[in-house]
Amino acid sequence: IRTVSKVHRIASIPGDGIGVDITVAAERVLHVLAKTVGGFEFDFTTFDWSSEKYRERGWYMPPDGIDQLKKFDAIYFGAVGSPDVPDHISLWSLILPIRKSLNQYVNVRPTRILPGTTSPLSALSTTSSHLDWVMIRENSEGEYSGQGGTSHSDTSYAVATEVSIFTYVGVSRIMRYAFETARSRPRKKLTMVTKSNAQRHGMVLWDKIFYEIAAEYPDVETDKMLVDAMTVRMVLHPESLDTIVATNLHADILSDLAAALSGSIGIAPSSNLDPTRENPSMFEPIHGSAPDIAGKGIANPVGAFWSAAEMVRWVGEGSAADMLMQAVENVTAAGVKTKDLGGDKNTEEVTTAVCEEIELRF
Ligand code: ATP
Ligand code: MG
Repeated sequence: IRTVSKVHRIASIPGDGIGVDITVAAERVLHVLAKTVGGFEFDFTTFDWSSEKYRERGWYMPPDGIDQLKKFDAIYFGAVGSPDVPDHISLWSLILPIRKSLNQYVNVRPTRILPGTTSPLSALSTTSSHLDWVMIRENSEGEYSGQGGTSHSDTSYAVATEVSIFTYVGVSRIMRYAFETARSRPRKKLTMVTKSNAQRHGMVLWDKIFYEIAAEYPDVETDKMLVDAMTVRMVLHPESLDTIVATNLHADILSDLAAALSGSIGIAPSSNLDPTRENPSMFEPIHGSAPDIAGKGIANPVGAFWSAAEMVRWVGEGSAADMLMQAVENVTAAGVKTKDLGGDKNTEEVTTAVCEEIELRF
């Protein structure tokens, strides 16, 4: 008997360094998941847009790159960055244009401590190590607007400006998404991060819109934190936080801290979403290309699997996404972990364990 299967078309961009290792691992797990659950499959098309190809060809993404990506249901991204290409060139050639051109204005970054792993916070006797957060990062404007310039460059009179742009439309849509996320979680609690004591234009608009939208969500408990004090609260009172909304720059920094506090930067996922669904959304672990461990086969693939699970959920396969996360958690709980989490397994061993867990248990 042949059953008709729904095909999810995925654009896969492994990129650089460990981005390649973890993308291979994620695709392998996704194929096993689809085969085991049944009723859907993944059709991956790989794009070799990377720093290595940039050195050969002089470009990261062809002129019609965005149009090519628009044909897919979702995009899976590994990492971009290489020690011999300035980071602002690689970022502004690939990941930032994709986020901006495909209207992926929300970046969702969940963090929690997975079973069988320990937070560095547990070593602090004064601190609770209960940590279960979702950070909502503004992904389209703010400090990463790309606006600014340099005059008298290459002289000792050089003056550079880097303009942060905050618009009513841009800020209110991210705030609304954050309130919806907070409302969907059991604690219904939203913390807004700002720096409006020192930055008196954009950050003040950011605060104003937060309180305006808060009035529409009386069931969501809110509070406001200055970003500097927020780093302290994340370390000393992690249990007091739930959903967090912050600007592009602030959430970039805070989400690395969040990942480190939850055990390793190697476990944390991110979803770049176009909530209108007019364009494909993009899923990627938050870590970078990690040149120091690239090619060694030891990168932690958990962040890649968690990102893949978020992609599976976004394309409409919620129960398969739950199964994938359950399999990952069973594997970490059993102590099958890479070195960054205190284990002794390599990327392939963890990947095989997750595949077997999916096949055996479901
Ligand atoms: P990029 O310039 O691409 O952002 P980076 O040098 O900033 O790269 P990251 O990938 O952000 O490197 O990671 C910082 C450090 O964390 C790396 O040096 C690496 O050792 C470690 N790390 C990152 N991701 C992983 C992972 N998946 N597994 C194990 N260790 C990791
Ligand atoms: Mg980095």
